[in-house]
Amino acid sequence: MASDTGNESAARRDQAVTAALEEGLAGPGSPITALLDVTGIRGSATALRAAFEAVVPAGTPVLHAFAVKASPLVPVLRLLYEEGLGAEVASPGELALARAAGIRPERTVLDSPAKTGTELREALGLGIAVNADNPQELARLDALVHAAPTSSPIGLRVNPQIGAGSIGALSTATATSKFGVALRDEGARDWVVRAYLDRPWLTRLHTHSGSQGLPLELLASGVRAAYELAEEINGAAGRRQIDTIDIGGGLPVNFASDAQTPSYADYARLLAREVPGLLDGRYGLVTEFGRSLLAKHGLVLARVEYTKTAGGRPIAVTHAGVQIAARTVYAPASWPLRIAAYDAKGRPKAGPDVAQDVAGPACFAGDLLAENRPLPLLEPGDWVAVLDTGAYYFAHHYAYNSLARPGVHGFTAGTEGVRFRTVRAPQSVEEIVAESGGSTPDALLGMGGGQE
Ligand SMILES: *Cc1c(COP(=O)(O)O)cnc(C)c1O
Repeated sequence: MASDTGNESAARRDQAVTAALEEGLAGPGSPITALLDVTGIRGSATALRAAFEAVVPAGTPVLHAFAVKASPLVPVLRLLYEEGLGAEVASPGELALARAAGIRPERTVLDSPAKTGTELREALGLGIAVNADNPQELARLDALVHAAPTSSPIGLRVNPQIGAGSIGALSTATATSKFGVALRDEGARDWVVRAYLDRPWLTRLHTHSGSQGLPLELLASGVRAAYELAEEINGAAGRRQIDTIDIGGGLPVNFASDAQTPSYADYARLLAREVPGLLDGRYGLVTEFGRSLLAKHGLVLARVEYTKTAGGRPIAVTHAGVQIAARTVYAPASWPLRIAAYDAKGRPKAGPDVAQDVAGPACFAGDLLAENRPLPLLEPGDWVAVLDTGAYYFAHHYAYNSLARPGVHGFTAGTEGVRFRTVRAPQSVEEIVAESGGSTPDALLGMGGGQE
């Protein structure tokens, strides 16, 4: 992104870490906290809008619906909304978060492979765009649309079956993916065309080929497959029945350095080359980016509590582990994270690199954020910053060992200093008890069920 080099965001980060320790957002009594770079988030939103504005004629309707699952935090949704984005939601909880952020129904899209009848009725009542996942869901929509008029634009999700990226669990366009109508299966394409011809209210087409690990070319070929299908359907209908194509999200994030590559502009230019008809103004567009808008703008700051050696290897025991980085801990080869070392005052730590393990607080041996990682030798009272964790990490708490959800603070940093605002307060132990049946300790007593 031209306006925000990796150097600038790294400088803001260093400033914010020092200030967070000075102001006590993190300290001996609060040994883990999460920070979000508001300037970085705004910059990514601006870059996304600019990238697509540059490749479609002026006036083409484009809705960038942020995939709420990437950062389900209301103030983040609100910030992105102010930056001109909407929301893609996939559960009653995510819809409630988007509504709490004040995101209007016209800027909200509901996707999910398992929408209940109640969810569908609510969405149609509100006028939220709905993408049906499968023929059975479409049959439910038939009944609802006939029962009551709706202003909701309705689409169907197709799986172009273009293949997997490097992470199988996040590849949604494989031959046997659970998502959408599998377009290359026998008879499926004809069925889809007929489904549209039978339903004049079906005006959108949706595809999303996967998240992280998909090369841009593969993403673009999924989009091209959706575009070609839309052209075929509109040809068969003899009118522009499909007026909007939802191309999903999935722009991969670089977890290896501060550089924000690939950029939205790279992807938009590739689409302009590979699928020019999609961008010539005849179709409205919906996008659903998540990770690429937030990942690089978040970090977790965690204290080094103890250090030791085992089998000759230095180990730093910190307060950041599986509770904030479940994917990295359980699938380290797919989800490596960068770690930056700071001293007790939050200054970047200097010193020769020593290969060491960075461990979390959870009680199982695999709770490691990094193995054999070259870093200045960590000491008790130092801090580690777990970088690029703004999406799908600290906002996706995993309650192992009843470890508390860390607080999340947004920051701006510059010559005028660092300012913080609380996005989410840290979870207290009282809340942990309350959420764990703490008000009904006798619930299982007096039921009978004894052996005699
Ligand atoms: C997860 C998801 C997205 C967002 O994917 P990112 O990789 O975070 O950009 C978009 N659309 C759908 C349907 C999804 O499931």
